[in-house]
Amino acid sequence: MRVLLVEDERRLADALVTILRKNKITADHAARGDEGLDCALSGIYDVILLDIMLPRMDGLEILKRLRREDKTTPVIMLTARGEIPDRVAGLDCGADDYIPKPFSADELLARIRAVSRRKTEIVSENSELKYGGVTLSTHLLRLSAAGGEVALTLKECELLEYFINNAEIIVSKERIIEKIWGYDSEADVNHVEVYVSFLRKKLAHIGAEAVITTIRGAGYRLCLKN
Ligand code: CA
Repeated sequence: MRVLLVEDERRLADALVTILRKNKITADHAARGDEGLDCALSGIYDVILLDIMLPRMDGLEILKRLRREDKTTPVIMLTARGEIPDRVAGLDCGADDYIPKPFSADELLARIRAVSRRKTEIVSENSELKYGGVTLSTHLLRLSAAGGEVALTLKECELLEYFINNAEIIVSKERIIEKIWGYDSEADVNHVEVYVSFLRKKLAHIGAEAVITTIRGAGYRLCLKN
């Protein structure tokens, strides 16, 4: 496994690189944002750890540009404690997870394994799911319909897969958190709302007949447009 760490705090970066290497993870480090973006765009990494406040270019901008280039490498944002708006903003730009500073080595390693495992599972399943004229290629992280095709991040793909497998059934936000983020995650209903809004935009963008409707007080339902 190869991990890119973009972090300008020298001591933290050195400590993290040491931990990763000790755990047989190849780790590359970039201290500046612009340098981090160049490395990230190479597409050779299994996971990217991204700090937010960075010289030259901040972590959110790096993430945005990465996703704009259709790079779906899992990204974990390293956020300062209590930066809730930043966390939501990170997810808004296509982050797969975030970890609040300070964190333990074990926690970081667990999150890295979790995002890379989910990616491997999705990629190796090599499957296509269909609903209402929409095709979700989970192995390619792509969504297509009559009006075009669009790339999805890993989380978006997992969420849409869940919706398609539960098409026309009402699913609660709590159930989604449990299924997509896991019991022990810090994700809350904001995360679900943010991701549902991305999926809605992408479904609309490709002219999909399927829509995610809000069922007030109950959750969401994937169904066909009236
Ligand atoms: Ca920083």
